[in-house]
Amino acid sequence: MTQLSGTLYIVATPIGNLSDITFRAIEILKTVDLIAAEDTRHVKMLLQHYGISNKVIALHQHNEDKAALDIIEKLRTGLSIALVSDAGTPLISDPGMPVVKAVHEAHLTIVPITGACALIAALSVAGVAITPFTFEGFVPRTSGARQTFFKDRAQTQTTWVFYESCHRILDCLQDMVRVLPLERPMVIARELTKLHETIVKLPLGEMLALVERDANMRRGEFVVIVEGAEKIHHADSELTSEQVRVLTLLLAQCSLKQAVSLAVEITGAKKKLLYQKALDMNENENEH
Ligand code: SAM
Repeated sequence: MTQLSGTLYIVATPIGNLSDITFRAIEILKTVDLIAAEDTRHVKMLLQHYGISNKVIALHQHNEDKAALDIIEKLRTGLSIALVSDAGTPLISDPGMPVVKAVHEAHLTIVPITGACALIAALSVAGVAITPFTFEGFVPRTSGARQTFFKDRAQTQTTWVFYESCHRILDCLQDMVRVLPLERPMVIARELTKLHETIVKLPLGEMLALVERDANMRRGEFVVIVEGAEKIHHADSELTSEQVRVLTLLLAQCSLKQAVSLAVEITGAKKKLLYQKALDMNENENEH
């Protein structure tokens, strides 16, 4: 039997396809005392779809601190509350942070009810390096601020992900080409889980051309993923493939220490580089 009293549940709802909700989310939404939502009308329609007629209270974005205190008071009286946003996972570019912080300060119980999240769905199909990645939320709305934003990230080697609306996607890409190389790999994940779902991976320059010529590529909701800048290779900070080959052969026969010192003698490469490479290779071996 699930213990509900005094718990705040952070419940993920679909980002498009209404079947993308978990059994557990439905159960929690049915059984909590209250559902707190940013837009009560929107959430009531969603609940109706699942045959849920629970009480919905407003979590006003413009007065989230006050709403957080109200929710804490209700939790203290033993009520269980589910927090939902309009779509996806609450707090991910959505309201909820003040109430979650307040729950921690009040030492009350908080439980995530996992589910859809646009950025995670997009990353899972993007085919770009994911670990590590940086989530930027929404990028600045004005061209100047946006260009500065992209310029600041131009040399970042981490993949970055952001949310964008149909009103700004084209302007956003135009600003990107002003400050990033045209060949930078990127992905647009549009209308995820919906009828017109589109996932496109192209170099930045070709992506801009596509969005300029295809009006459909300017409709709906967007997750934009930009692969990090490539590492700049310096000859003296890299091993040649032959040096790596020798090290690999030696690692298969002797201890890491012996392999590295023999590889230094045979190849003449720097000990520090060979040692680091051997550690990396060992680590990869252990992971598999
Ligand atoms: N909390 C949500 C989540 O978990 O992804 C995000 C809410 S944020 C206010 C809304 C933005 O998320 C949209 O403007 C869009 O950039 C992105 N988004 C939401 N649903 C999407 C979808 N189905 N396809 C692509 N992007 C989506």
